[in-house]
Amino acid sequence: YDDRDGKIWMDGSLVEWRDAKVHILTHALHYASSVFEGERCYNGKIFKSVEHSERLKRSAQLIDFEIPYSVEEIEAAKEATLKANNLTDAYVRAVAWRGAGPDMGVASARNPVRMAVAVWEWGAYYGDAKTKGAKLDISKWRRPDPATIPCEAKAAGLYMICTMSKHTAEAKGCSDALMMDYRGYVAEATGANVFFVKNGEVHTPTPDCFLNGITRQTVLQMLRDKGITFHERHIMPEELESFEQCWLTGTAAEVTPVGQIGDYSFEVGALTLDVAESYEKLVRS
Ligand code: PMP
Repeated sequence: YDDRDGKIWMDGSLVEWRDAKVHILTHALHYASSVFEGERCYNGKIFKSVEHSERLKRSAQLIDFEIPYSVEEIEAAKEATLKANNLTDAYVRAVAWRGAGPDMGVASARNPVRMAVAVWEWGAYYGDAKTKGAKLDISKWRRPDPATIPCEAKAAGLYMICTMSKHTAEAKGCSDALMMDYRGYVAEATGANVFFVKNGEVHTPTPDCFLNGITRQTVLQMLRDKGITFHERHIMPEELESFEQCWLTGTAAEVTPVGQIGDYSFEVGALTLDVAESYEKLVRS
């Protein structure tokens, strides 16, 4: 994975994939001072590319550093990386972090802010779940209170409990975990937002303590355009029993039907498949 051909954009220029390295005293490695983006390029065009670059800049500001590149420069970096790797359909990972420098403790004002862009081919995030429905575990870890961490940032520190939740889920034969929030409401999966269907209407958690995903917002607009009623609200885990369909949204996940969450089952229904198909058309249009 690291010793292979290819190019990675790093701090303003393209370097060999195998040479894209950082020092062990990188601040981000010790203190999670890192933000990133996950994007997908379809037919040579990154879906909502500018929105992702803007979110990357905003995520950094939320965790107290400024990326030394403009949105336009980040756009150009992504384009250059795709071109250098000869890819038109790929996952795009932009990442920015506080590097190694004179500050070796918690403070890091004197250390350089660094940035990289890597691209690679990445198929369906949940394997064959697109037709069968993904199986989710229910995590014991909760999305934190917004007073404890800037939860609108796509920041590395917020993913520690996601990795732990996902590993536990995979050990149980599930593809992902549904996480509750600090109040006990249904929040999201470890890298995707969640939607439910009941009596032809859609219900999705209010994104007040987790990422309001770009795919989530795209799907909500799609529902508006289709004239489908949706409710953004706090959802109790006890309500899972009453929902007929469920799907996840995310750049990597796209729109993936869910067949099971813990002991609750859902059908891969017509509305879910319609939304998944419309999303697939939109990203390639
Ligand atoms: N929540 C989390 C925790 C995520 O990692 C992601 C993926 N970025 C999402 C939601 C979905 O966000 P988006 O649709 O912007 O990819």
